[in-house]
Amino acid sequence: MLADPSIRYQPYTPLNLPDRQWPGKVNRAPPIWLSTDLRDGNQALANPMTIPQKMVFFETLVKCGFKEIEVAYPAASDTDFNFVRMLIEENRVPDDVWLQVLTPAREDLIKRTVESVAGAKRAIIHMYNATCCLFRTVVFHNSKEETVNLAVKHTEIVRKLTDECTAKHGTQFRYEYSPETFSQTEPEFALEVCEAVKKAWGRAGPAFEDRIIFNLPATVEIGPPNHYADLVEHFCRHISEREKIYISLHPHNDRGTSTAAAELGQLAGADRVEGCLFGNGERTGNVDLVNLALNLYTQGVHPKVDFSDIQAVIDVVTACNDLPVHPRHPYAGELVFTAFSGSHQDAIKKGFEAQRERHAKARAQGEREYWDMPYLPIDPADLGCTYEAVIRVNAQSGKGGIAYLVQQHLGLDMPRKLQIAFYQVIQEIADREAREMTVEDITTAFRKTYHLGGSVYEGRLALRSFRISAESAPGGAEGEAVDERRQFDGTILVDGQLRVIRGDGNGPLSALLDALRTHLQVDLCLREYSEHTISQDASAKAASFVELVWNSGDVKGTRAAAESFWGVGIDPDIAGSGLRAVLSAANNAIADRALPELKLSVGAGFSAASGQADVATAILNALRLELPRRLQAAFFEEVQRAAAGSGGEISYDALVGLFRETYGYYEEEEGDARFAVKSFKLEHLNASGRAKLSGEFIINGKPVSLAAEGNGPLSAAVEAVNRGLDGRVSIREYAEHSIGEGSEVKAASYVEVAYEGPGGSPKLTTWGVAIDSDITASGLKAVLAATKAVEHADEAARKAAAQVAQQ
Ligand SMILES: [Zn+2]
Repeated sequence: MLADPSIRYQPYTPLNLPDRQWPGKVNRAPPIWLSTDLRDGNQALANPMTIPQKMVFFETLVKCGFKEIEVAYPAASDTDFNFVRMLIEENRVPDDVWLQVLTPAREDLIKRTVESVAGAKRAIIHMYNATCCLFRTVVFHNSKEETVNLAVKHTEIVRKLTDECTAKHGTQFRYEYSPETFSQTEPEFALEVCEAVKKAWGRAGPAFEDRIIFNLPATVEIGPPNHYADLVEHFCRHISEREKIYISLHPHNDRGTSTAAAELGQLAGADRVEGCLFGNGERTGNVDLVNLALNLYTQGVHPKVDFSDIQAVIDVVTACNDLPVHPRHPYAGELVFTAFSGSHQDAIKKGFEAQRERHAKARAQGEREYWDMPYLPIDPADLGCTYEAVIRVNAQSGKGGIAYLVQQHLGLDMPRKLQIAFYQVIQEIADREAREMTVEDITTAFRKTYHLGGSVYEGRLALRSFRISAESAPGGAEGEAVDERRQFDGTILVDGQLRVIRGDGNGPLSALLDALRTHLQVDLCLREYSEHTISQDASAKAASFVELVWNSGDVKGTRAAAESFWGVGIDPDIAGSGLRAVLSAANNAIADRALPELKLSVGAGFSAASGQADVATAILNALRLELPRRLQAAFFEEVQRAAAGSGGEISYDALVGLFRETYGYYEEEEGDARFAVKSFKLEHLNASGRAKLSGEFIINGKPVSLAAEGNGPLSAAVEAVNRGLDGRVSIREYAEHSIGEGSEVKAASYVEVAYEGPGGSPKLTTWGVAIDSDITASGLKAVLAATKAVEHADEAARKAAAQVAQQ
């Protein structure tokens, strides 16, 4: 570069226009658009478009709403000529679209140009000749007078040929004249040429179709946009019969200010703009029509061209031009709705939240829902872009952006401290892999970290089933709020093995934490908890977030612990979501540390609660039965009795055998079944559930026929059983669950019956357990199994009664 560029370059000559009006004006209406993609844009391509490419491009322009399209320079090439013919002969041009064709001021070329559009419904002949001093003297060796004469003579030729064509083919013509290199032409001379051309054309009128178009090209952009605006205003103010003229702009982008030039040129009085989509064109290109249109749109003015699916337009244009759109190109670049920086992401996230509230308020009051977002001048959705693209995450990004993506894709509003914790997880991955994180990377990392979204992401601890029950703490004085305790009974998967665990606390979460402490020696405390609902479609779910810390033994130390573990849970049930969140955090706390194995220790000194649950765990894993809590307690007593002789230890097999024996539980098929339903018939007697049961059963190995009525099949079965007894049985508790899946699914039933002997002899309670593929049958079998112990008692009672009678 030169030390003093003024020795080589001259500044533009400013126009003396002290009363210029354009700086005070505002654009409130779109101009008439002309796309010259297929002419000026196409001429600038290394490989000009093929006819099929031009056709696709043309259709895209029509679809976007362009009503004036410069389709070719027909005299310059056969491809161009043939393309115009094809558009007309194949009827590709909608009635309201004007085909524009360019011709230089030469008679034979004008002739061929007019021929090219013969038969079109509507056409604009666009003729140009160079008018600036440099071109006049150096390129064409014409005087001013010769230049004017050339324009006049050839305008007359256009007039004559188009008249003939209209007469012969009915084509409606308009005329556009360009004083080529207008921005470098002396302003007075540009006016002189145009006045002469207008006179030669001779039929300009105020109606839309009659107006002559004077196109004022900044063929090469040589000055700042305000200079161009001055030139345009000067032209508009001085040309005669302004009302019969459309003033058109044709800015190029040599200085990178074509958009500004076009906008200021419109303020200066222009009615029309010629340009290309995404600014294709010779050298630095023509002005970008998409940019201009969307600039208007963001001012609340519809541009009358539509880019609702901007990506589809980009796809066509880049394929036809074989040129990319720059990633930071206004409105269209891949990165323009993207924020990488943490502070921007944070602002956008807050902006969206604030806007949602503002819009809800505005909606409620019937007011407009204005778009007002930090860093986003336009709603990406208006251009068919999803918000996904708005925030992208790399190692420079902040927690706000990540939280936004999690919110958008998983519907979760993370508490602030969780945002920080998860941000560190993402930072680590981004750093390690040294790449940008996609939305999928982030959501997958979230699911993995917090064990969300099915078995793929499950941790070492996973909730299978649970029951929360409440019991009032003793000692609540009358009228005082009773301090209710919560009991957690549940089945969790621990390293792939089912475990029955239970615990107490003043809420469901602390009851689960108590259970983890008791059964797995995982001693954690709750530090933070929050939840919110996720409404997706019709079904609302609850999301819970918990922060756990290791229990250090004293409250202060625990509260201040530096290390904490976050967990997230989602469940249709709010308690379920909290419990899942606790297990999620517990998974993160235990990492890969060893967990205590199940011990079947039932002796003295062992906690009854944990002993019962451990016994239940053994039955669960051996028989897939989830024992109700009271049955756990009942069976545990049996186990303790059986183990008393062997120092409190009992083998796994002995335990399972004891269970089968005690509850008449056999899975074998009928042959050697001791309690079986051979056949039964159930009649529903009325809508309230009254039923009549009749059938053949095997009770303790013996076939028995029964028939009775009751408030349902089980009470009918009890009724039938009672007929054979001196005393009475009644059902105290009934529970059921399914085992297995699909066609293999079976029902497991648990029935506790109470027996009262004749004459009010002491009550006996006993359980029966059964499974069957039919849920009614499994219930009936369980009732029958429970009567086994009752039969002995009844017989004893009968004998006792007989003895009393004999005496
Ligand atoms: Zn041009």
